[in-house]
Amino acid sequence: MEKYIGIIGAMDEEVSALIQHLTDPEPIAAPFRDLPMFKGRLRDRSVIIARCGIGKVNAALCSQFMIDRFPLQALINTGVAGGISPLLELGDLVISANAIHHDFDTRNFGYDRGTIPSMNVRSFPADPQIQKEALQIAKHIMGAERVHLGLVVSGDQFVSSTDQKNEIVQFFPDALCVEMEGAAIAQAAYVNRIPYVIIRSISDKADNTAPDDFDAYLDKVIPKLNEVVRELVSTI
Ligand code: SAH
Repeated sequence: MEKYIGIIGAMDEEVSALIQHLTDPEPIAAPFRDLPMFKGRLRDRSVIIARCGIGKVNAALCSQFMIDRFPLQALINTGVAGGISPLLELGDLVISANAIHHDFDTRNFGYDRGTIPSMNVRSFPADPQIQKEALQIAKHIMGAERVHLGLVVSGDQFVSSTDQKNEIVQFFPDALCVEMEGAAIAQAAYVNRIPYVIIRSISDKADNTAPDDFDAYLDKVIPKLNEVVRELVSTI
C-alpha cells in the first residue's frame, strides 16, 4: 500500500494554496477542535495536509494524530520563520539539517539548553535523503545563494526583539532561523521513527521590525516555498 506524505503548516496562509492544488481532496475529521486536514493527491503522490495551529503543542498533537491515523512515509513542516543568522535575507529558504527546542531549559540540573532530560536528546536530525532532495530543488527554484541548510530552533514565542534574538544566538550560535512548531514535529517524527524535514521561508529577522516584516512578507514568500514543497513531494 502506498504510504502518505504528511505536510503540516501552522497557519492557513501556509497551507491553503497547497490544499487548493490537491487532486481529489477529501476532508479528514480530526477529533480535536479546529484542526483542518485534507487527504488528496499532489504531484501524483498521496498526501495529507493539515493546518495545525500555532505553537509546539498544536504541532505535536497534529503530528501524532496524522501518524496514528495514516501510514506515513515522511513528514514535511512548511511555513515561515524569523531569520537568526546574518546570512539570511527576507524570502530566503531554510532547510533543516536538524531541529532543537530553544526554550527547553533544565540547565539547573546540568543539561545544555535544549536538551530533553528523560530522552537525553537535544537535536533531532532531519532525514538526510529528503534534506538533499529539498536542497537541490530549492536551489534550482530559488538560486543557490537564497537557500540555506542547517539548524532550525523552535519555541513558544514570537521572537521580535534584538535581546530575545541575541539570547538565542548565545545558546545556539549555529541556528539559522527561529519558529514555533518545527522541533515539536521533529520530536514526534523522531519518537515514531518517521523521516522528516522542515522547510521555512524567512518572513522577518526576529528583531524589533519582525512584527511589521512578518505582516508584509507572509503572503509574498509563500508561493516559492509552496513550489519547493510540491516539487519535493514528487521525489520522496
Ligand atoms: N499573526 C499570527 C501569529 C503569528 S505567530 C496570528 O495573529 O494568528 C508566528 C508564526 O510564524 C509561527 O507559526 C512561527 O512558526 C512563525 N514565525 C515567523 N517568524 C517568527 C519569529 N520571529 N519568531 C517565532 N516564530 C516565527
